[in-house]
Amino acid sequence: MSQPATESVSQAYDPLESLAATLFRPMGSDGVYARTALYEDMVERLAAYISRQRDPRAEILRFPPVMSRHQLEKSGYLKSFPNLLGCVCALHGTEAAIRSAADSHETGGDWTKSLAAADLVLSPAACYPVYPLVAGRGRVPSGGLLFDVAADCFRREPSRSLDRLQSFRMREFVRVGTPHEIMAFREQWMARAEQLASELALPCTLEVANDPFFGKVGQIMAVSQRQHALKFELLIPFHATAQPTACMSFNCHLEHFGEVWGIHDSAGEVAHTGCVAFGMDRLAVALFSNHGLDLARWPTSVRQALAL
Ligand code: AMP
Ligand code: ZN
Repeated sequence: MSQPATESVSQAYDPLESLAATLFRPMGSDGVYARTALYEDMVERLAAYISRQRDPRAEILRFPPVMSRHQLEKSGYLKSFPNLLGCVCALHGTEAAIRSAADSHETGGDWTKSLAAADLVLSPAACYPVYPLVAGRGRVPSGGLLFDVAADCFRREPSRSLDRLQSFRMREFVRVGTPHEIMAFREQWMARAEQLASELALPCTLEVANDPFFGKVGQIMAVSQRQHALKFELLIPFHATAQPTACMSFNCHLEHFGEVWGIHDSAGEVAHTGCVAFGMDRLAVALFSNHGLDLARWPTSVRQALAL
């Protein structure tokens, strides 16, 4: 089948395609890639750069790529993004049942029909496990709490575009406290992010945004999120003609997680939460697409910031 002319032209000239050959190796599924040494070294340098921006009071936690299914369900994820969620499934039952299901593959059968959901999902964002953890510690101390977390995240949004992966790294600074503390944290980070982008010589804009809430009800949620300016994104163009890509987000959850998990501040009020998310893979691709593959030719301020 012939492709529409516009599509084949844009595919032929996609500047990200040429980067892919150097930064990634295919793994048989769109948006899931092996990372080369050049690329991975950049992600590590970025991670170290972000660590240098961290408030020394932050508690550092690194999460595995899976989290409790129950916790994510309770967080309300299925209401908002059921289409993006990946659930861990496994073969359960007796040895005979498992053997028969697995062996059906050899005879052209579908072994996946015998899968049953486990108590785990693939983490769709790094901050979800923080809130139940905080709730389990009793009241939030005066001054609130601050976390530095990271996880390999999964979202079921297969795409051939390098800026939309199914498996990607997310780093987050998470704040728990009073409404005022959350807003101050987010304001401070939005200003800071623009400075960081400037130091990394990445052109950017900061804009009100919405999450890709699912379905028709989701459209209403998205409008409301925008009206209340609950989400901002730092957008970076990956090349001159590209639509800018969201590389960081600045999120205010109001009392949502406080209510769901019963988190209270020192005055007994339901705690508010907010987070600042760094898309590590998008930031790394943004660096290569804006500055090229020859690190020696990157601007001096970028080389210094990343200790190149
Ligand atoms: P969000 O929770 O949607 O605000 O995501 C936080 C950050 O993760 C975004 O600003 C992106 O930088 C990054 N991110 C989200 N989805 C993807 C994806 N499909 N591929 C790569 N990075 C992503
Ligand atoms: Zn978050």
